[in-house]
Amino acid sequence: MTTNQQAFDRARAAIPGGVNSPVRAFGSVGGTPRFFVEAKGAYITDVEGRSFVDLVNSWGPAILGHAHPSVIKAVQDAAGRGLSFGASTPGETELAELILSRVPAVQKVRLVSTGTEATMTAIRLARGFTDRDLLVKFAGHYHGHSDGLLAEAGSGLATMAMPGSAGVTAATAAQTLVIPYNDRDAITAVFAEFGDRIAAVITEAAAANMGVVTPLPGFNAFLAETAHANGALLIVDEVLTGFRVGAGGWLGLEAGSYTPDIVTFGKVVGGGMPLAALGGRADIMDYLAPLGPVYQAGTLSGNPVAVAAGIATLKAADTSVYARLDAAAETISTATAAAFDAAGVAYSVQYAGNLFSFAFRSGVPENYEQVKAQDAFRYPAFFHAMLDAGVSLPPSVFEAWFVSAALDDEATDRILTALPAAARAAAAA
Ligand code: PMP
Repeated sequence: MTTNQQAFDRARAAIPGGVNSPVRAFGSVGGTPRFFVEAKGAYITDVEGRSFVDLVNSWGPAILGHAHPSVIKAVQDAAGRGLSFGASTPGETELAELILSRVPAVQKVRLVSTGTEATMTAIRLARGFTDRDLLVKFAGHYHGHSDGLLAEAGSGLATMAMPGSAGVTAATAAQTLVIPYNDRDAITAVFAEFGDRIAAVITEAAAANMGVVTPLPGFNAFLAETAHANGALLIVDEVLTGFRVGAGGWLGLEAGSYTPDIVTFGKVVGGGMPLAALGGRADIMDYLAPLGPVYQAGTLSGNPVAVAAGIATLKAADTSVYARLDAAAETISTATAAAFDAAGVAYSVQYAGNLFSFAFRSGVPENYEQVKAQDAFRYPAFFHAMLDAGVSLPPSVFEAWFVSAALDDEATDRILTALPAAARAAAAA
């Protein structure tokens, strides 16, 4: 049998760091990243045959649990008809219509392959549509790894304490204005200074790449109002929250209070296959080629197998699924909080629907500075105690926990049983 260590050593010789995405490395928690071979329902199995209850769920896509029968069947059927045509298919329209039906702000949608592509295209589109150059983003928000979006991004950069990335030119970085989250004065000030040059504000619908940090009540509406008053667009990034925190994503939870101009999707919309999307106002979306002057393309865009997974996932994700996700989040987060209380660990917990995370500090953080001011050193001990007990958590304190509708009593019991000792390990760290 290949051991996990052997799998990692072999990978390291052929792949930088042994991983194809840095968030998979156990950078901040230490130890050897697990190499997995199979996942089904609430569980994921590594090369040594150890099975873990999965609270990463591919960083979001697997809301139904892994290998959901209807999704697997849809994928197998689609694959049997051919993997990629590089031409249009009726399935793409069906998925587009499903997105439109769930998100009223989206009148037209274009399918791409990754969340990074979706946000990268959204920004180009905003710049092309407004004929302006600057972009406003929030510190601690992650929107994928395109050049202009890596400044003070959360997720893997937070985990590795990197302020940005080498290889991004100063000229590109200078076109992204990074301001603190949940700070209306900062928004007002940046528009006062650069208002006629700002093409768009991009924000995570609810921030969840520095742990979960929700927008303060009315904050997103204030962004829409300020952007629109200045002739700029609001891009709401729902790659992580979309179709996960509710049928209509975070926008559905804040329904009617504001209308974004462009919305980006990923993860759940592709049901675990490489698929993402951007959508929005029809007149803005029609600015994309072939109708408009903003170019965007993709050999594998709207790939038929990925589209089949997306359609099957959205169709299966009905109200009962969202009720299960909410209940699972409630049970697990409450038990985690109780375990920290019993162990005397200072923490705060934040929710964006069924997404949640804990910060090792007593006050609820509202921005990246506050998120960073926590006892992050407690997380590795907690993480590894959970992993040793058969529960796979995100390998960083700066990530949300992802529940799935497949978490049954047995899987949940395993989590609840593991928590007290893991909380004591965090206390002792
Ligand atoms: N936006 C958000 C809010 C995300 O969470 C992510 C990925 N975690 C992305 C964009 C980028 O998506 P992808 O990894 O598919 O490129």
